[in-house]
Amino acid sequence: MATVLDIAKHNPNATPQAVTDDARAAGRDALAIEKKAEITVSAAGQTSLVGLTRDELKDKLAAIGVPEREHKMRVAQLWHWIYFRGAKQFDEMTNVGKGLRAALTEAYTLARPQVVSEQVSKDGTRKWLIRMPSTGPLDKGAEIECVYIPEVDRGTLCVSSQVGCTLTCSFCHTGTQRLVRNLTSAEIVAQLIVARDCIGDWPDATPPEGAFVPTDGGRFVSNIVFMGMGEPLYNTDNVIAAIDVMSDGEGLTLSRRRITVSTSGVVPQMERLGAEANTMLAISLHAVRDDLRDVLVPINRKYDVKELLDACRAYPGLSNARRITFEYVMLKDVNDSDADARELVRLLKGIPAKINLIPFNPWPGSKYECSDWERIERFSEIVYRAGYASPVRTPRGRDILAACGQLKSETEKLRARARMMLEQGIGAEGVYALGDGE
Ligand code: SAH
Ligand code: SF4
Repeated sequence: MATVLDIAKHNPNATPQAVTDDARAAGRDALAIEKKAEITVSAAGQTSLVGLTRDELKDKLAAIGVPEREHKMRVAQLWHWIYFRGAKQFDEMTNVGKGLRAALTEAYTLARPQVVSEQVSKDGTRKWLIRMPSTGPLDKGAEIECVYIPEVDRGTLCVSSQVGCTLTCSFCHTGTQRLVRNLTSAEIVAQLIVARDCIGDWPDATPPEGAFVPTDGGRFVSNIVFMGMGEPLYNTDNVIAAIDVMSDGEGLTLSRRRITVSTSGVVPQMERLGAEANTMLAISLHAVRDDLRDVLVPINRKYDVKELLDACRAYPGLSNARRITFEYVMLKDVNDSDADARELVRLLKGIPAKINLIPFNPWPGSKYECSDWERIERFSEIVYRAGYASPVRTPRGRDILAACGQLKSETEKLRARARMMLEQGIGAEGVYALGDGE
């Protein structure tokens, strides 16, 4: 069950009852709130500058005739307004001359991708269904999901790197959906911009009433995990470019140490990720033997456990202060025995590692069950005795299908019905009563 946080601690200025007590009183204890968020569709034919890299911005300025000698200065100005202040209109850019502002407005926008829906879990987790602008007549706009997980001392944004996934891990619902395409780096960055818009994480902005946000005085989005839809290392160029934008000290300023890229084990790309993006790495291990991992994480047939762990040992910047996280989903009677736990710690010997045990999140039609709680505890105990902290990751946002492996799972099925009900003014209760099997 998802943790219920003390909302008052999270945002002292908020109205706590907005999400929790009132909802309970109304008998909607396990339900999420859905509302149609503000829609900011880009005007036809105009490109948004939001999410672009410095080089891409330079090209856009050149295209409207800004002389090359001004490029560096103009890019710095745009960068500050777009990524530091979260500007939505060129007119806000008071230190940019009127003429250039007019030219920019004529040619471009600062539109964000469309937020089709926002769901708020009773534990404060937020999930957005985001529609990217259409890329041509045959593209109606790719849809992806992005999840915000607030805690007292951090706010983690789980971003997607692809629409769907070409890999077919047998316990993951995303893997049952065909890949539509890779996201561009701008589309990856835009997920952070949308999140910061929605939770009021810009200078002079404030969070929505009743929102859970960290209260430690830091950024509301302080951490990024590439654990949404898709395999980030099948889209490495765009993922690295997006990380460069997100971590740029003059704009979004996220620490690279607070960005974690999770991979199912695309061995040839791991070194490059470490060398170029310098982020934290998470490995979806899930099995300690090749025969089982071949089934659970089929990319194992290409790069087996030994190759994967060798690549981990060689990951640039690895140290006790910078450990690799190994994710291990707990599947009843499949990978959860004492022998599996002992083999896990044996395999990881010598690798600075953290182990994340993830209770399996079921989805309709999945052939696995989550291990019993006693089994998870026993497994965790063995791992702990071997010297690893082994937190069992508390599922967050289960009531809105925002937990690992559930992304997009029900959304497609629910979407038509949800839209219909929203249009008819029927509350989210009806939609989410279809729920996730809990
Ligand atoms: N494709 C990347 C990142 C996205 S998946 C990867 O596989 O690492 C993010 C994490 O969620 C991975 O560890 C994945 O194995 C895990 N996951 C997928 N489906 C799950 C499910 N149904 N229950 C629990 N964890 C799941
Ligand atoms: Fe793709 Fe990761 Fe799901 Fe495997 S676990 S199918 S790599 S998203």
